[in-house]
Amino acid sequence: MKFKTTATKASKLFTLIFTVLLLSFVGYTQPPVIEEKPIVLKNVHVITMTSPGNIIKNATVVIAGSKIKSINEPAPKNAKIIDGKGKWLMPGLIDMHVHVLTDGGPFGPKLPTQGAVMFFDLQDYMTLYNSNAVTTILDLGSRPEHFGQRNEIGKGKVIGPRMALAAMIDGGNGQGRRANTADDGRQAVRSAKAEGYEFIKVYSELNVETYKAIIDEAHKQGLKTIGHIPDAFQGKLNEAFVPDFGMVAHAEELAKHCRDFNEQEAKSMAKLLKDNATWLSPTLTTMEWIASQVRSLDELKALPALKYVHPLLQSKWQVANNYNKMSSPENISRFDKMAKFNLLLVRACKEAGVPIVAGTDAGVSGVVPGFAIHDELALLVKAGLTNEEALASATLLAAQWLGIDKIAGTIEPDKLADLVLLEENPLDDISNTKKIAGVFINGRWLDKAQLNTQLADLAKRNTANRDKFDWLKMMKKPK
Ligand SMILES: [Zn+2]
Repeated sequence: MKFKTTATKASKLFTLIFTVLLLSFVGYTQPPVIEEKPIVLKNVHVITMTSPGNIIKNATVVIAGSKIKSINEPAPKNAKIIDGKGKWLMPGLIDMHVHVLTDGGPFGPKLPTQGAVMFFDLQDYMTLYNSNAVTTILDLGSRPEHFGQRNEIGKGKVIGPRMALAAMIDGGNGQGRRANTADDGRQAVRSAKAEGYEFIKVYSELNVETYKAIIDEAHKQGLKTIGHIPDAFQGKLNEAFVPDFGMVAHAEELAKHCRDFNEQEAKSMAKLLKDNATWLSPTLTTMEWIASQVRSLDELKALPALKYVHPLLQSKWQVANNYNKMSSPENISRFDKMAKFNLLLVRACKEAGVPIVAGTDAGVSGVVPGFAIHDELALLVKAGLTNEEALASATLLAAQWLGIDKIAGTIEPDKLADLVLLEENPLDDISNTKKIAGVFINGRWLDKAQLNTQLADLAKRNTANRDKFDWLKMMKKPK
């Protein structure tokens, strides 16, 4: 057999042969069967989130495999029955702004082949999301290892939420990928797409032309853009609102541009978003935590969920807290003003018809993954959203922006069984989202007892290991 000598043909042929061999000898590993029997939830009130006020009382919901099979249809005979009497079923929550801890830490001396010198347990981390009914997350600073984490969840080795991954592009001497010209910005977008990322995050140090080129190229490549408003737009905020800038990732990205922190400013900013069809993920909970830590670390130290955070991070948050380092009367007052303004901005956005989604910035000190989404929902209501609007911000609307609303975000037959069963109605009181009786994660049922056991075990191990993880000692440079 003669080979054509061009490298492309040879390499294409090689790829083909390799793929055929791989498929025939190795084969695919299919995602595991989650629950062997169908599950029937009986007598449950279903908050479908398909349209305002759409509640199906005393319904029978059948879950088979990873999907919702039917609502109010005859139940299969071999099913496992869960009594939902007096309880409320709603879609699992979506956190639209998180930073998932990477599996390994590059601490200490670095030699080729060494890699990370300590490792985190992915299941321990994802347990925080599971026990808080967060079934989908958008990671806004994704790295290659986040694909690996997602695969572990897909394979069923780890139980955790669905992960959407955004590649971050910054400028100047900023974080991660950097681009300081329009051409480099466009190339960074194309590379990120080729690497598999689904969204682009723009960051603070981008210059004006690069920022605009990134958003334009992302749109051409079919990727949505979310992010910060670069500092280069100081004094000309309106120019940051270019077509296809999909979402502002924090309310403070706008608050930073305030002079008076008043309602008038909130309204004019809301108009910029509305006119540009840009959505808002306000991350109110982050700003509350930043303001709190600028004041003092008392609230952080008293946080009940702190015991679920890895002891190394518990240590870092307390002994190397960047926000607390900024503590001064001026900063205390500035961050308090921003936290208050964020609420005004959310109300103004609601009134202007800007879609608002729930995001927490989980990973920032004080913002505990999973637990924080319930704080965010409460703050959205405090800002002026109705309970139902707050729920939509973490379900239907979030799913729409992510482009997964055909499979998630509402309760309907054939949608994924990412669900939470609540003891009480969250439409009466938003804090009822915390009264979790159980969750379905991709069709897998975890009841309150299981969730509580996992959390208690995690807290016990974290506390027992606390002395082994001193941030300052571990970050000390070796001689
Ligand atoms: Zn963030």
